[in-house]
Amino acid sequence: MSDNEAIHARTDIDVIVVGYGPVGQMASVLLGQAGHTVVAVERHAQMYGLSRAGHIDDEIMRLLDRVGAGEEFREDAVEWELYDMRNKAFGGDLLMSFDWSVIGPHGYRSHWIFYQNNLELALNRQVERTGRVEVNFSTELVRFDQDAESVTAYVRDRQSGEERTLRAKYMLAADGANSFVRRSLGIEAKEGHVGPNQLVIDTLQKRDLEFEFDNGQFADPERPGCLFQLGKHHRRWEFTLSEDEDPGDYTIDTVWELLKPWVGPEDVEVLRWPIYRFRESMTQEWRRDRIFLIGDAAHTLWPFAGEGMCNGLRDAAAITWRLDLVLRGIASPQVFDSYQDDRQPNMQGWIDYSREIGLPCIIMDKDAAAGRDQFLFAVQQDPSLMPRATVPPGPTAFSRKDDPTAGLTAVQGQVRAGEKEGLLDDVAGRGFQLITTSQGVVDALTEQERAGLERIGASIIVIGAPGSGAPIEDVNGTYRDWFESLGRVAVIARPDYYLFGSATDRDDVHQLVASLSDALGATIPA
Ligand SMILES: Cc1cc2nc3c(=O)[nH]c(=O)nc-3n(C[C@H](O)[C@H](O)[C@H](O)COP(=O)(O)OP(=O)(O)OC[C@H]3O[C@@H](n4cnc5c(N)ncnc54)[C@H](O)[C@@H]3O)c2cc1C
Repeated sequence: MSDNEAIHARTDIDVIVVGYGPVGQMASVLLGQAGHTVVAVERHAQMYGLSRAGHIDDEIMRLLDRVGAGEEFREDAVEWELYDMRNKAFGGDLLMSFDWSVIGPHGYRSHWIFYQNNLELALNRQVERTGRVEVNFSTELVRFDQDAESVTAYVRDRQSGEERTLRAKYMLAADGANSFVRRSLGIEAKEGHVGPNQLVIDTLQKRDLEFEFDNGQFADPERPGCLFQLGKHHRRWEFTLSEDEDPGDYTIDTVWELLKPWVGPEDVEVLRWPIYRFRESMTQEWRRDRIFLIGDAAHTLWPFAGEGMCNGLRDAAAITWRLDLVLRGIASPQVFDSYQDDRQPNMQGWIDYSREIGLPCIIMDKDAAAGRDQFLFAVQQDPSLMPRATVPPGPTAFSRKDDPTAGLTAVQGQVRAGEKEGLLDDVAGRGFQLITTSQGVVDALTEQERAGLERIGASIIVIGAPGSGAPIEDVNGTYRDWFESLGRVAVIARPDYYLFGSATDRDDVHQLVASLSDALGATIPA
């Protein structure tokens, strides 16, 4: 670094976030809310404004509520009720039908459809509220290096051309699928299966619209596609292109031609109609010393499960609690070692699952489509014929060793404490949670164990049946059922909603807390 650069270098930063898409925004708000100083750089002049993600699940809704963005998000989001797959958009046969009006394990409806710009606005509002995050638009990361103490980022103002230097303890690369950071580090992103070209048409409704078949897939071999609401005011149609079609031949006129069976210019305004080639990729290294990859910078998948951004947000949740503890000196940097091993198997599961559910939707060969239809009709009669879909495994790298409950979802239910009723996180607190249905378990904790748990901000939660005198009442019996199915007396949930592990009996709770201490770098004295 030259003297001049050194004078202009900002050195008070904890974390630089490169890229202010939804994943960079989530990382920024989580770190800002934890009290860390963050500088985010985004090369665009404003938030991206290109809506791509349209679906989240209940885990991500829990995360949105954690950062305070859930309420604003829900103002325009739609709870997805029913997901149908037919073999024609109009008058086709029903191939599969899913009732999505269920409550997921995180305590929310399990599928939500929304307009991405509204999600970004809601996240950005919470970022601003932290007062700890400086967001620099029109600012591009052009070079960076790192040493044992810090990361130095050279950023250029795209309007003035002026270069500045930022120095921080860590850097998060949330810079999207073509990640400049990943490429500069020479990290390979292994390519997986390449999907078809897909025309994605986003529209703004000019009036309320309702269709007999909505929010589902039409797996018509003539022209497969799907349609769904993007929140309360937008709608999306997608159409698969065959390999012999040239995306360059598509014009706004062809777009209107495709939309004609549903809507015309009096019904909707076409906002954008990009053509995407669906790809899979997985970074081979998620961390290089003080730099971590998150979001599309680390991985991409086919979007059929609506889980690409969701997984980026999972990355943000997984890395920020580690950064928070290390920056506060509460955990050793050894907690970073488990980031890749936690995230990669889960991500690969989502990549496989997304392809498995996508492939039957995009068949353009008539005979193959007829075979698929026959198979799915048979499945309607006998569901056991359906092969088991991949279930993405939970994270088990940061966990109690040899614990069969490690990596399971930390279930959330409705609870009551005095006058306050709501989901557990709201009532009992977020972060690490030691949850038990037995007061005796908590009474058995030593002072040191309690102090250690408090130090990492863990909530100690005793849940019992309504009227049992337990400090937190299990309104719908969620925790009674969960603990019964686990056969455990206590669990420790991680801040990113997976189990660190559980205890088989009261004595074992001491071992459980000690193993958390070990995993964090011996900060909870036994
Ligand atoms: C058609 C389609 C449908 C999808 N549907 C869903 C869905 O329903 N649900 C879901 O969860 N996911 C979905 N996805 C995936 C989702 O859109 C992405 O996973 C998500 O947008 C990735 O977010 P990100 O923040 O990681 O990256 P991006 O949104 O790409 O943001 C990266 C940011 O980094 C900035 N940047 C890049 N380089 C630099 C630099 N050098 N300096 C400064 N800034 C830089 C870019 O300008 C950009 O703003 C879909 C994707 C597609 C294509």
